[in-house]
Amino acid sequence: MDFSLSDDRSAIREMAEAFSAEHMAPFAVEWDENRHFPVETLRAAAALGMAGIYVGEEHGGSGLGRFEAVLIFEALSKGCPTVAAFLSIHNMCAWMVDAYGDADQRARWVPALARMEGIASYCLTEAASGSDAAALRTRARREGDHYVLDGEKQFISGAGASDLYVVMARTGGEGPDGISAILVEKDTPGLSFGANERKMGWNAQPTRAVRFDGARVPVENLVGTEGQGFRIAMAGLDGGRLNIAACSLGGAQGALDRTLAYMADRRAFGRVLTDFQALQFRLADMATDLEVSRAFLRHAASALDAKAPEATKLCAMAKRHVTDAAFDVANDALQLHGGYGYLTEYGIEKIVRDLRVHQILEGTNEIMRLIVARHLIGGR
Ligand SMILES: Cc1cc2nc3c(=O)[nH]c(=O)nc-3n(C[C@H](O)[C@H](O)[C@H](O)COP(=O)(O)OP(=O)(O)OC[C@H]3O[C@@H](n4cnc5c(N)ncnc54)[C@H](O)[C@@H]3O)c2cc1C
Repeated sequence: MDFSLSDDRSAIREMAEAFSAEHMAPFAVEWDENRHFPVETLRAAAALGMAGIYVGEEHGGSGLGRFEAVLIFEALSKGCPTVAAFLSIHNMCAWMVDAYGDADQRARWVPALARMEGIASYCLTEAASGSDAAALRTRARREGDHYVLDGEKQFISGAGASDLYVVMARTGGEGPDGISAILVEKDTPGLSFGANERKMGWNAQPTRAVRFDGARVPVENLVGTEGQGFRIAMAGLDGGRLNIAACSLGGAQGALDRTLAYMADRRAFGRVLTDFQALQFRLADMATDLEVSRAFLRHAASALDAKAPEATKLCAMAKRHVTDAAFDVANDALQLHGGYGYLTEYGIEKIVRDLRVHQILEGTNEIMRLIVARHLIGGR
């Protein structure tokens, strides 16, 4: 495995780091405090090709791979993991339409998504089916040339602000094979949203329930074939999980960088904190954990780019390992700041709050273990 970055990849990472430092980092605490969803910043990122990273160039995408995506999301998350993570969800939706949509759907939706003139949300989870997503109950009934949707999605990132909803709904019988992926536009009659959830972190993006009450959409909005939706949803999540891991990695790296600067300045017992060997060892462990995470994440991204048979397992391993390790590093960074780490203005407690949810969403870390174990022991 060669993880040295080519000139092109280095340039992509530097571009994302520069964007993050200039357009995200200075505002991240304010966005969090005001629960502000910075759509203009997202559009500026889109103008640099970061809203359709692995979407084909013929429809306005950047035509890059998963490896480049993890470089980008790590870099953006040094500025703000929450906004970077929303961009990841949007990229996942754009890819699902690009990869599984027909020619008309791709021409109609993908260029707008790549420019982020249209913002997309991913709608899988329901109140009674989170981890057990294949048990979802939102129904799409065929009526002539339309599907009529009834049901409710829970915890949908971007809901209310998004223009396009990629909805997993039941068109057939029980289980995963009865689920289809259907595009629902924001102004569809019968589509409505719950209140913006109050939550521990991820405050710079809205999270709402999405309700369908006889929402009619043309049959042309079916992505792929009837019954293919769950497989499309899971394929999207392979890459989504890499990106979420990259968001944790960038957030934690940002926290470590700030901790190093803080400790070189902060004095206790007549010395700067970096003079204490116990704390030096802690810093060494934090940096090592992030390097291991980075190497493994890039390995998993390469496997997904290569469509390797073990890619799903590696993506689940990476999501579990990196989000756990990065959360611990961010939490250690808070500890090393002492009481100041607990204050909002230092920006560290926000990173801890933001990274916590990465251990829960896009499949909890318990479900990641389930996926890995299934691959290890097969049907036994
Ligand atoms: C801020 C936020 C944003 C989100 N954004 C989106 C979004 O945009 N789109 C979307 O579709 N969803 C979204 N989600 C939903 C998220 O993916 C789910 O919350 C997650 O998959 C877990 O589902 P659940 O909350 O129903 O927990 P449950 O499935 O009820 O799990 C509860 C606990 O039981 C454990 N558990 C469950 N089953 C097993 C098992 N078989 N073995 C071992 N442990 C198990 C879980 O790991 C967890 O610890 C979001 C969630 C949050 C908090």
